[in-house]
Amino acid sequence: MSKRTKIKALLESEQTHIEVTVKGWIRTFRNNQFIALNDGSTNNNIQIVVDFENTDPTLLKRLTTGAAISVVGELVASLGKGQKVEVKASQIEILGDSDPEKYPLQPKKHSLEFLREIAHLRFRTNTFGAIFRVRNTLSYAIHTFFQDRGFVYLHTPIITASDAEGAGETFHVTNFDLVNPPKTETGEIDFKQDFFGRATNLTVSGQLEGELGAMALSDIYTFGPTFRAENSNTTRHLAEFWMIEPEMAFYDLVDNMDLAEALLKFVIKEALAKNADDLEFLSQRLAEEEKQKPQNERSDLSLIDKLQFCLDNDFQRLTYTEAIEILKESTPNKKKKFQYPIEGWGTDLQSEHERYLVEKHFKKPVILTDYPKQIKAFYMRQNDDEQTVRAMDILFPGIGEIVGGSQREERLEKLEQRMDEMGIPKEELWWYLDTRRFGACPHAGFGLGFERLVLFVTGMGNIRDVIPFPRFPKNAEF
Ligand code: ATP
Ligand code: MN
Repeated sequence: MSKRTKIKALLESEQTHIEVTVKGWIRTFRNNQFIALNDGSTNNNIQIVVDFENTDPTLLKRLTTGAAISVVGELVASLGKGQKVEVKASQIEILGDSDPEKYPLQPKKHSLEFLREIAHLRFRTNTFGAIFRVRNTLSYAIHTFFQDRGFVYLHTPIITASDAEGAGETFHVTNFDLVNPPKTETGEIDFKQDFFGRATNLTVSGQLEGELGAMALSDIYTFGPTFRAENSNTTRHLAEFWMIEPEMAFYDLVDNMDLAEALLKFVIKEALAKNADDLEFLSQRLAEEEKQKPQNERSDLSLIDKLQFCLDNDFQRLTYTEAIEILKESTPNKKKKFQYPIEGWGTDLQSEHERYLVEKHFKKPVILTDYPKQIKAFYMRQNDDEQTVRAMDILFPGIGEIVGGSQREERLEKLEQRMDEMGIPKEELWWYLDTRRFGACPHAGFGLGFERLVLFVTGMGNIRDVIPFPRFPKNAEF
């Protein structure tokens, strides 16, 4: 193992006057004397003090922003403000030069748009370092939460022949020569001759397969990539995103909501505990950004307060029907401020409506239940009113929908009837229907969009900034 100590450990060290080896990338070098060095283990840099009078001038010239170096020196208490300890260098080695004329990251503020174009380097900024450390903590915390509760991590397929929602937003997977694919006698593309002997696509959700697992293992969860070819150029949609989909046998909708709320609170708490420095940095970043906004659009809570608030309060639970009543009577609706006015019962809520409920009306996370069946998927359990289904969406401030879930329809007859009504091919889903034929039981589950969670916890404004290499319409660089 390398003798090198990571910067996070050095900064927390109680011991001084010890010799240390530290490696990292130069953030800044000022007065020919002070290097701010970062190795990604923490948002904070360690200060390296260079004895410039006794250092070769050609080496000093190579201490440029972005260069990788290795330093041996003494860890001492710092005289300067802002840090407890620093390293008095006795030996500096350049591992990799970085030409300051060409290096795209200057020690100044770059716009997020610019950094997206150099996503291969943006990890080296304070903002993106913090985001991806928080993302890592959240990811680990999700596994911890489920593993501690005896859930089985199930890997559902990436390539499938089913479009879970019937929404048709899939990416095709094919081996055909696109210029000249085999055709049937009637002139259609003959997928029988394709690699899998049928038309296939990238998964839009692992839920249907997840349910199969739950019907034997009781509690399962997936955590994997999901692909949707929706042409939505929004700040909340990616073409490739990660989703967490737990599925639980013997759960009803209330159990489902309780689990989702507990999961969200647990992972936020973990981030607050493990990434205090990163969240403090991101909190300040957001506060700076908010200063640019008009007074009435600024949030009264800091990022950290917002996260804490989320932990301290029960999510508001109400039905879709109750929400429609609130929205109908709301000031923006009466003053015709909504782009999509609330006219009646039955239409899907737009993001402006969701945000009104969460940010203006309840001022906390909201769980909406019992949506009209015509705007929800075929597998959701039908209520006795024959109008609504046991669906639940969790809405978060600044984000809108973060979780979508439901109690599943376990009654074969009802399920088949709904599939017929919605034109979902029953033959293709014979295996799914089998679970309703053999030992069917009440069960429920939900999908949590991982990037929407990271967006919320980091306080970032665009989902493209919380995944290392975002995929969206007209973009698959890197
Ligand atoms: P939306 O209405 O926001 O498009 P949806 O109803 O299509 O969401 P679901 O199919 O219920 O979403 O998917 C479950 C979760 O996955 C959502 O609650 C959301 O957190 C996340 N999600 C859905 N689509 C995307 C996307 N394109 N990019 C990132 N996350 C997404
Ligand atoms: Mn969608």
